[in-house]
Amino acid sequence: MNYQPCFEDIHFILDDVLRAPAQLQALAPFADTDAALLQQVLHEAGKFVAQEIAPLQQGGDEIGCRFDAGRVTTPPGFRQAYQAFWQAGWPALACAPQDGGQGLPTVLEAVLYEMLSGANHGWTMAPGLLHGAYECIRHHASDELKARYLGKVASGEWLATMCLTEPQAGSDLGLVRTKAVAQKDGSYHISGTKIFISGGEHDLTDNIVHLVLARLPEAPAGPKGLSLFLAPKLLPDGTRNAVHCERIEEKMGLHGSPTCVMRFDEGTGWLVGEPNRGLAAMFVMMNAARLHVGLQGLGLLEAAWQKADAYSRERRQMRAPGPRIHTEPADPIAEHPAMRRILDSQRAWIDGGRVLAYRTALELDLAKHHPDAARREAAQRWCGLVTPVLKAALTEQAFHGASACLQVFGGHGYVREWGIEQIVRDARITMIYEGTNEIQAIDLLVRKVLADGGMGLAALLDDLAQETGGADASLGARCDRLRELTRTLVQAAKRDSTLPYWVADDYLRAVALTLLDWAWTRIEASLAATTPERTARWQAQALRNWVLPEFDMRVQIVLARCSHALELV
Ligand SMILES: Cc1cc2nc3c(=O)[nH]c(=O)nc-3n(C[C@H](O)[C@H](O)[C@H](O)COP(=O)(O)OP(=O)(O)OC[C@H]3O[C@@H](n4cnc5c(N)ncnc54)[C@H](O)[C@@H]3O)c2cc1C
Repeated sequence: MNYQPCFEDIHFILDDVLRAPAQLQALAPFADTDAALLQQVLHEAGKFVAQEIAPLQQGGDEIGCRFDAGRVTTPPGFRQAYQAFWQAGWPALACAPQDGGQGLPTVLEAVLYEMLSGANHGWTMAPGLLHGAYECIRHHASDELKARYLGKVASGEWLATMCLTEPQAGSDLGLVRTKAVAQKDGSYHISGTKIFISGGEHDLTDNIVHLVLARLPEAPAGPKGLSLFLAPKLLPDGTRNAVHCERIEEKMGLHGSPTCVMRFDEGTGWLVGEPNRGLAAMFVMMNAARLHVGLQGLGLLEAAWQKADAYSRERRQMRAPGPRIHTEPADPIAEHPAMRRILDSQRAWIDGGRVLAYRTALELDLAKHHPDAARREAAQRWCGLVTPVLKAALTEQAFHGASACLQVFGGHGYVREWGIEQIVRDARITMIYEGTNEIQAIDLLVRKVLADGGMGLAALLDDLAQETGGADASLGARCDRLRELTRTLVQAAKRDSTLPYWVADDYLRAVALTLLDWAWTRIEASLAATTPERTARWQAQALRNWVLPEFDMRVQIVLARCSHALELV
C-alpha cells in the first residue's frame, strides 16, 4: 500500500483549526488566497505525489543510487519524476513572482513537502534543499549572481546543495578547513573535501548549484572566519567546474538520495554575502531546512501510521478483551488495547504535530508580510523558538513512532514486503542531519530561552493562553509549570553553567509536549464548533493517557538537576 495524502485532515487543520485562509488574506501578497484556492493547489499537489512520487518509493530503496567514475545515477523513474515536478512549477510555489515563482504562501509549500516526504523521503531530498538555497541567494548574493542563478534555483531547473560538513567538522562548523583564494577576476578558487553532501552529484538536473562554506586566507579561526561561496557544477561557459564526486555512501536508509563525498580542486566559486559572515548567510538556509526536516518527520510518521492502521484492521489474532459479539474465531489486532494504544498515540503526535508545523509555516508568512510590527515580531519569536522544537520532537517521534508501527506488523514488519522497515530506516537520519537533535535542544535552551532570561518563551506562552482564552485548565497549569521550570533553570544555570547542557533534551521535550497540548486544545475547540461525527476520528484521549504524562517525567528530571545546582555554594 502506497502513501495516500489525507486531504480531509489537512484541510480541517488549515481551514478550521488555524483559519489559515483568513490569516493569509489579511496579508497584502495573499489577498486572493481563499480556502478554495488552497484546496485546489493542495489537491493537485496530492494527485502528483500519489501518482508520480509514491510509486517510486520501494524501487528507490531496493535499487538505490549508483556511482560510476564520478557519475551518479538515481533510481529508475527519479529523473522523469523530477523533470515533471519542476516543469509543473512545484518548486517555485512559494517563490516571489519577480523571481519566476508563483508567490503563494509558505504554508502550501510546507504541506507539499509533508506529503512528498510521506510518499518518498529519498526522492524528496533532491528538491528539499532548493528552498533554503533560493532564500540564501535571494538575500545574500550579488545582483550578478542572482541574475545567473536565482531564477534557475527558484524554478528547480537546477538543483542545489548545502556543502558544510567535512571529515573533522560536523556539528562544529568552526572546524571547517576548506579554503577559498581570491582570483583577479573576482572569483575564488575553492579547495577541500566535503562529506555527506546530499545530492552533491546526480542525473536529475543538468547543473547543480553548490553553496559551500570555506575559509579565506586571513580569516580568523572558528565559526567567525567562515565565508559562503556559490560554486556550480557547470560554469557559465558550459565547461565542467573542478568539483568532483569521489564516492557515494552506503547507508542504513535513504537509498534514493545520493550522499556524496565532494572534492573541490581549486573549483571556481563566487562569494555570497560578506567575507567571514558565511555562517549568518547559511543560517537562512539551515532554518528553512530545519522546518523541512520537521515536516519530513511528520510525513514519515503519517506514512508509517497509514500502513500500520490498514494492517491492523485486516490481521486477526486471538480474542480482544472485553464484551463483544464474535463472528470470527479471532479479532482484528486493531481491537487489542496494546495495538490501539500504539496507533492512537501516533495519531496524537501526527495531528498535533501538523497543527504546529503548519502554524510555523504560517508564522513565516506573517513574519514577512504582516502590516503590524508587533505581530511580525511575535511571528519571528514563534519561528525562532518553535523551529528547533519541531525539528527535534517530530523527527524523534518519526523514528520511534515508525518503529512502534512496525511492531503492529509483528514479524511481517521486519521483512521488506510491507515497506514499514524502510520507513524506520529512512526516518533515522532525520534525528541527525540539519543539526542533530542534541544541537537543536541546546539551540532552544541556551541560545534562545536562557539568553533572554526566559522572556521570549514566557511571551510565547502568554500568546498561547490568550488564543485559547484560558479555556483549558490543564493546559493553563502545564504552561504555568513550564514558566516556573524556566525560571528555576535561569537561576540554577547561574550557579552551574554546565547544567543547561545536561538537561536541554528534557527541556525541549517538555516544551514540545506543552505545544502539543495547546495544538490539541485548538483541535478540540474546532471540533466542538463543527460536525460531531468527525469527533470519533479525532480522539484526544490517547494524548492525555499515553503521550502527555511524559511531561511530568521530563520536568522532574530537570528539577532534580536544578536542585542539585541550587544547593551548590
Ligand atoms: C544521509 C546524510 C545526509 C546529509 N546531508 C548533508 C548535506 O546535505 N550537507 C551537509 O553539509 N551535511 C550533511 N550531512 C551531515 C550531517 O549534517 C552531520 O552528520 C551532522 O551535522 C552531525 O555531524 P557529525 O556526523 O560529524 O557528528 P558529530 O558532530 O561528530 O556528533 C556526534 C554526536 O555528538 C553529539 N554532539 C556533538 N557536539 C555536541 C555538543 N556540543 N553538545 C551535545 N552533543 C554534541 C551529536 O549530537 C552526535 O550525537 C548529512 C549526513 C547524512 C548521514
